[in-house]
Amino acid sequence: MSFHHYKDIIEEGDLVLAFISRAAVKPITVTRGAVLNTRYGHYQHDNMIGLKYGEQMSGNKGYGFIHLLHPTPEIWTTSLSHRTQIVYTQDSSYIMQRLNVTSGTRVIEAGTGSASFSHSFARTIGNEGKLFTYEFHEPRFLEAKRELHEHGLENTLITHRDVCNNGFEIENIPSEFGPINGDVVFLDLPSPWTAIPHLDKVISKTSRVGICCFSPCIEQVEKAVKALQADGWINIEMVEVSGKRWEARKDMVRDISDVVKRLKDIQSRKNQGIENRRQVKVDSQSGEKRDHDEVDEDDKPKFQNSDKGYNPFGKGTRIREGDDIYNWRDVTKVESEIKSHTSYLTFAHKIPITKN
Ligand code: SAM
Repeated sequence: MSFHHYKDIIEEGDLVLAFISRAAVKPITVTRGAVLNTRYGHYQHDNMIGLKYGEQMSGNKGYGFIHLLHPTPEIWTTSLSHRTQIVYTQDSSYIMQRLNVTSGTRVIEAGTGSASFSHSFARTIGNEGKLFTYEFHEPRFLEAKRELHEHGLENTLITHRDVCNNGFEIENIPSEFGPINGDVVFLDLPSPWTAIPHLDKVISKTSRVGICCFSPCIEQVEKAVKALQADGWINIEMVEVSGKRWEARKDMVRDISDVVKRLKDIQSRKNQGIENRRQVKVDSQSGEKRDHDEVDEDDKPKFQNSDKGYNPFGKGTRIREGDDIYNWRDVTKVESEIKSHTSYLTFAHKIPITKN
């Protein structure tokens, strides 16, 4: 299994992205004897072996189902274990096309973080390209190194390094990676302006180089822009990508008789409250102070609402969306929370200086 190549049949040891629901995708390594337990049933790994990627699988007890998806960077991003904030597909896809990242591109990335974007870069540049990614937090570096190796992303060289203080140059670089000569730089760091001055030593001297600094605060953008200008980067532009997912759902259609019924219901509850209070007052004045619970069945107000269950507008009764006994219309709704690490994207380019 690799993020580079598609395979058809699931084998022991393969990574499967178990699609449980749109909000829950669980990465699993298929292991004999293991069971995936979800709120929608239990799934034996043994039964996954031999199935096709993309297939639907039923739960052990005959209820529930999941889909067994082949890994892609886009789905991996929604399922990986977060060690840091990550770059989501709305941003990564835009950055990728803006910087013209393609098969064979040599990319410099810092920091690696949870390696969400690293997976996208590594897949897009293919075996012809190279990704040089840097992380200074040792546990994160080790975790990302293991993950990139397990996922077959051998076009990626991860380095444990503080790039802001020590730059990007690598000693004893494996021969298959060659000199860094980056065509594209991506900085997702708290202080990119301290890393920018180190870039000249590792970027291409023969082709146009693109950079993107990914920063959540405008103050970081200001400082990054100054550092880029000071170092001769041109075409500096900042953009923000805000993606929204639209949901389709049903909205209950209420007619005038529902409204009348609801108003009568409110009025009768109000009258009932007034009557109860009046009864307590009369009892206490006549010396017969009774606990409210002691009221005889026959003494209870006669106009108590017997139709409590009906209440399409108020609280209490739960109505299933699309229930046939009500009228519905199809509507759309914007997802309230945007699942992305919304940041400012500062782009720039550097053109090599040709000496005559
Ligand atoms: N883009 C990553 C992803 O999609 O998973 C997330 C990057 S995370 C927001 C930022 C990372 O930069 C952190 O893991 C942090 O440890 C690392 N970092 C911060 N300063 C650094 C430095 N000077 N050198 C190398 N890595 C650094």
